[in-house]
Amino acid sequence: MIYGTTKIYGILGDPVEHSLSPVMQNAAFAACGIDAAYVPFHVAATNLPAAVAGLRSLNVVGFNVTIPHKEEVGALLDEVDGAAAVIGAVNTVVRCGDKLIGYNTDGEGLLRSLAIDLNFIPVATSNVVIVGAGGAARAAVYVLAQQGVASITIINRTLERAQALVDHYSSFFPRQILAAAAFDSENDHRKLTKYFKGCDLIINSTSIGLFGESFNVIQWDSLRSASVVYDMVYGGAGKIETPLVATAKAAGFDACNGLGMLAEQGEAAFELWTSRKSGGVMRGALVDCVDKIK
Ligand code: NAP
Repeated sequence: MIYGTTKIYGILGDPVEHSLSPVMQNAAFAACGIDAAYVPFHVAATNLPAAVAGLRSLNVVGFNVTIPHKEEVGALLDEVDGAAAVIGAVNTVVRCGDKLIGYNTDGEGLLRSLAIDLNFIPVATSNVVIVGAGGAARAAVYVLAQQGVASITIINRTLERAQALVDHYSSFFPRQILAAAAFDSENDHRKLTKYFKGCDLIINSTSIGLFGESFNVIQWDSLRSASVVYDMVYGGAGKIETPLVATAKAAGFDACNGLGMLAEQGEAAFELWTSRKSGGVMRGALVDCVDKIK
C-alpha cells in the first residue's frame, strides 16, 4: 500500500524493464516493515541530468543507477564515495540531508557472493583471472585488489580495453601484479593456458552466455582442481544456469552464476539506505522471480 508517508526509491536505466531490482527491493521493504516503494524509471542518456534534478526536487530518498548511466551520474551528484570514484562508476545514490552521495556496491556484491556461493575468500596468495574488461570488471578488479590478492589477469576480446584497466589500477595498487591479455572467440585458446593454470578464481564479466552462447575460452584440463568459477551472467535465455556454469560443473569445478552478486549488491544498497539487512529476503525474491520466468 502507498501512503502519504511512503518514501520513494527507484532505479534509473535504459532499458530498465528487465531489471529485477524492484522485485527484490520491494520484497525487502515489505519484510522489514519499512513504509517505502521502489520503482523503475526509464531514462534515456540525454535526460539523465533532468532526471537526477527531478529526483532531487521530488525528495526521492535513494536510487540505483544501471546501464548506461553508471559512469555519467557521478558528475551530477554532490559527493562520490572514494571506492566509486576510483572505479569510475556509481550504482547507488543515497540522499543525506540536501546532498546526493554516490556509491558503488557491485564490487561488494561480488565479494559477498563469492563467500556465500563459492566459499571463496580472496587472500594475499590468490591469483585471479577476469574475462572481460567492461564496467563489471572495473568493480571486480577494484575490490579484489583491495583485498590484496597476489595477481589479477584481465583477458578481453579488445586488448586495449583490458590494458586500459591495468593502467588505471596500477597506480592505485602498485604491489599487485596486474596483467592484460586478449582472446578471440574464433581462435584456439591454448595460448591462454599460462594464465589459467595457476589461478584460484576465474570470473566471467563478459556478456557471453546471456543468450545461451557457449563460453569456450577456458582450457579446463589446465586448471588446478581447487579453482572456482564465477559467472556474472545470470538467468540468460530464461534459464538460471548459464552455459559457463554448466560446463565448469561438468568438468568438476565449483561454479555459480551472478544471481548472488545481483542480490548482494542490492542488499548492500538497501543497507546504505536503511541501515537494515533484509536477511536473505532479496535473494529469495530473486530466485522465486527467475523460477517463474523459466
Ligand atoms: P560492458 O561494460 O558493456 O562490458 C561488456 C564486456 O563483455 C566487454 O569486456 C566486452 O568485450 C565483452 N563482450 C561482450 N560481448 C562479447 C562477445 N561476444 N565476445 C567476447 N566478449 C564480449 O558490460 P558490463 O556492465 O561490464 O556487464 C558485463 C556482464 O556482466 C553482463 O552480462 C551483465 O549482465 C553482467 N553483470 C552482472 C552483474 C551481477 O550483479 N551479476 C553486475 C554487473 C554486470 P569488448 O571490450 O571487447 O567489447
